[in-house]
Amino acid sequence: MHQYDYLIAGAGLYGAVMAHELNKRGKKCLVIDRRDHIAGNIYCEDIEGIHVHKYGAHIFHTSNKKVWEYMNQFAEFNNYINSPIAVYKEELYNLPFNMNTFSKMWGIRTPQEAKEMIAKQVAQTNITDPQNLEEQALSLAGRDVYEKLIKGYTEKQWGRDCKDLPAFIIKRLPFRYTYDNNYFNDRYQGIPVGGYTAVVEKMLEGMEVRTGTDFFEFREENPDIAETIIFTGMIDEYFGYKLGALEYRSVRFETEVLDCDNYQGNAVVNYTEREVPYTRIIEHKHFEFGKQEKTVISREYSSEWKVGMDPYYPVNDEKNNSLFEQYKELAAGEQNVIFGGRLGDYKYYDMDKVVEAALNRLEEI
Ligand SMILES: Cc1cc2nc3c(=O)[nH]c(=O)nc-3n(C[C@H](O)[C@H](O)[C@H](O)COP(=O)(O)OP(=O)(O)OC[C@H]3O[C@@H](n4cnc5c(N)ncnc54)[C@H](O)[C@@H]3O)c2cc1C
Repeated sequence: MHQYDYLIAGAGLYGAVMAHELNKRGKKCLVIDRRDHIAGNIYCEDIEGIHVHKYGAHIFHTSNKKVWEYMNQFAEFNNYINSPIAVYKEELYNLPFNMNTFSKMWGIRTPQEAKEMIAKQVAQTNITDPQNLEEQALSLAGRDVYEKLIKGYTEKQWGRDCKDLPAFIIKRLPFRYTYDNNYFNDRYQGIPVGGYTAVVEKMLEGMEVRTGTDFFEFREENPDIAETIIFTGMIDEYFGYKLGALEYRSVRFETEVLDCDNYQGNAVVNYTEREVPYTRIIEHKHFEFGKQEKTVISREYSSEWKVGMDPYYPVNDEKNNSLFEQYKELAAGEQNVIFGGRLGDYKYYDMDKVVEAALNRLEEI
């Protein structure tokens, strides 16, 4: 006899969608999370009345109408459009690379002029068979865009020189020959009014949720508590890292409350110079057009990851992907355990893709 139909380990977006849908279908679910809060990496902490994105800035964007409508059941979304700024030394540019960027960089006005300038700079590099990321970026963007906007930022992100990074990391560059600073191409975009934690709270409404509860300890004490387990933590940790640890890049945040109402005039400002140690500064209130008297900023530092630290970005290179495939084989042999989410699937998923993956998985169940 099991007390629950499902034990869901992880109260992030994936676990919450699964729990919500299973509960709706009459299944009895218990949701646990080892952190002391729900919502996983989309958790927002309330500081000075501002929703602070504790694990990194999150902007919801999707072209999938079904997913957009699904999310809108749990919150109304505002009309925030992500339009980051890049700072290189004393210069300031719009992102993504678009006519505003090119016009500022070269004093030009038309798409034709921008295309000619990029083609000229690309030709000057004389690179036909790029051997590393630097050569790849130069052969796609030319020297100015590479040196001012790509080089330092990428080196900080990966903790390595662009010459020592593989070319495949950059397949193509999203050049846009219009004066459009909208970072995403998706049809739908916004931030949930009330913040992301409230969305997850609503998904988990009426369900039993235990935070500060680690799955491995809990399972040891309650081996037969549920018929099926949905595990959204790290797949390698589930198997005690017995084949080795999958690698991640991590991010460290330094969050500060400032006694001013508007620090940088934009939610996201990237620092593309290598000498500035952080990659971005996020000013959280601008995601929700906040009018508070104070402001909260977070400096983001890209860092190495070691077992025990918060995992952020999976390193999906050949070595790690093949290790993941071996873990997946082990997972297939686990009776009544479903693995999912960004850590269970060892995959960088945007939020919409997480919702999509959970809804697809539910159909299979
Ligand atoms: C820095 C950063 C910025 C991002 N920005 C965006 C963005 O702008 N837009 C976008 O669409 N997506 C963004 N994403 C992606 C987004 O964060 C993910 O799609 C989403 O949070 C994944 O949800 P999840 O439930 O799979 O994982 P998580 O949110 O990580 O949830 C997994 C949960 O499982 C818990 N857990 C793990 N192990 C155990 C255990 N042993 N016992 C109990 N609980 C456990 C964890 O504590 C965690 O709460 C970003 C990601 C990062 C890293």
